[in-house]
Amino acid sequence: MSKVVKFGGSSCADAKQLSKARRILEEDSERRYLVVSAPGKRFPDDIKVTDLFYYLYDAAVRKEDTERILKRISDRYQEIIDGLGIHFDLQKEMDVIRSSLASPEREYLASRGEHLNALIMADWLGWPYVESGENIFIDEEHHFIPEKSYPVLARTLAKLDHAVIPGFYGSDGNGKIRVFTRGGSDITGAIVARAVHASLYENWTDVDGMRSADPGIISDPKPVRTISYQELRELSYMGASVLHEETVFPVRTAGIPINIRNTNHPSDPGTMIVPAYTGSAQFHMVTGIAGKKNMSNIQIDMAMMNAEIGFGAKVLSILARHGVPYEHTPTSIDTMSVLVSTKDLEPVREKVLKELNEQLHPDRVFIEDHIAVVAVVGEGIAKTKGFAAEVFQAVADADINIRMIDVSFSELNIILAVDEENYEKTITAIYEEIEDRL
Ligand code: ASP
Repeated sequence: MSKVVKFGGSSCADAKQLSKARRILEEDSERRYLVVSAPGKRFPDDIKVTDLFYYLYDAAVRKEDTERILKRISDRYQEIIDGLGIHFDLQKEMDVIRSSLASPEREYLASRGEHLNALIMADWLGWPYVESGENIFIDEEHHFIPEKSYPVLARTLAKLDHAVIPGFYGSDGNGKIRVFTRGGSDITGAIVARAVHASLYENWTDVDGMRSADPGIISDPKPVRTISYQELRELSYMGASVLHEETVFPVRTAGIPINIRNTNHPSDPGTMIVPAYTGSAQFHMVTGIAGKKNMSNIQIDMAMMNAEIGFGAKVLSILARHGVPYEHTPTSIDTMSVLVSTKDLEPVREKVLKELNEQLHPDRVFIEDHIAVVAVVGEGIAKTKGFAAEVFQAVADADINIRMIDVSFSELNIILAVDEENYEKTITAIYEEIEDRL
């Protein structure tokens, strides 16, 4: 049995944090494969090493002074090396980076934060280092290429009892380094877990797992102890994110659970993300509440709309042509509403309105901004009669007008839209009503 353990930037920020990480590794002999991020912030105004590398790239492209930034990066690592009490030849590594600056490559430089950190950890732990650039392949859109990567990575790791693997990057297969999008070390951890058929993927960060609501709105919301992959996707989509959103895909098909833990509070069990509620996975009715502001409603009114087959498809294709994803499309007999993010709509707002008018000749079309959506998520919702009524009643009792309701057949969630000014009040009203079911 093996567990894959990933430590995020705050867990790798300095020697003190890395010592906590080592203690965690040594507590459980199944923790055999380690994935690391680049050192993150040590204090709120600190700069993440990955950001320093992006600045280095910008300076090199603009032919500005790069030595100052190189020194800052090198000082961060030297402080770690000294703190760990190891003899690591940092100068040699920094010289390789310096010599690459003659023809700077953005993704290569961005990846060096994880690369150096993993080399240092491997040296300190006495574990083999596995080069992500030779074992993980990523396309030009920053997406993982599974069919090319797994055979190679699995073969490499099968020979090793332990390994340290840098997160966040891989290559195009021809030696050119490619990175995932920001926060992508989470994805590397999931890929490694899948490649070694791990029993568990532990993702160590600086919070005690997920909360059932935004602590900025609800004081001390209940922790989420167990959540399914599906529920996690819904909640993260609504803004409650703890992991990079692509993290679940590699482990999901393999049925490997993810445990989010706190490096600074290892006695807390954190949040267990499970493929499904079976066996020992603790089932609860509702998992959490999340939501987002800054939504816009495109409202189209037209008499006899329902008689025109393909009307909805035309509306959505106009949005698609302008690159605006839609989130909800509640309809009634002569009206159609399309809920989109204001940010996505903003650059093409006038064009979209013009095309809707010209191509569909509606009676009226207009856009309403400042809408918020709130989602109550839980696989138990589908099985509970009267739950939706209870949620709506709680909102009504708080004197809030619900503008839209969306409950799909999957009944994984209840989504409602309210005026943005009522967002926090809506979340509070629902949370207080359902707290004992969380
Ligand atoms: N170091 C990268 C970033 O800052 C990736 C990661 O930490 O997951 O985005």
